Amino acid sequence: MKPFYIDYPQEKIEEHQHAYRCAYYKIPTTVIFGLLENHAEDCTYRTQQSKWVQLEAKLKPHTEHFDEPHADEVD
Ligand SMILES: [Zn+2]
Repeated sequence: MKPFYIDYPQEKIEEHQHAYRCAYYKIPTTVIFGLLENHAEDCTYRTQQSKWVQLEAKLKPHTEHFDEPHADEVD
């Protein structure tokens, strides 16, 4: 999973000089703030990214259950 989702297509907001918004659902980048859940529920980008997240979760082994040697516990 990515910490920030900033690779969605953006377009300039005409009324604002330095403002951009998601090209799909016209939500300003200042509202989205790099978070997937801040896109519209039906946003094409959000839908695509959600699929990838689910796919990644399926493909990745669950590394949190690995037995790591604890060197600091040795006498
Ligand atoms: Zn969006």
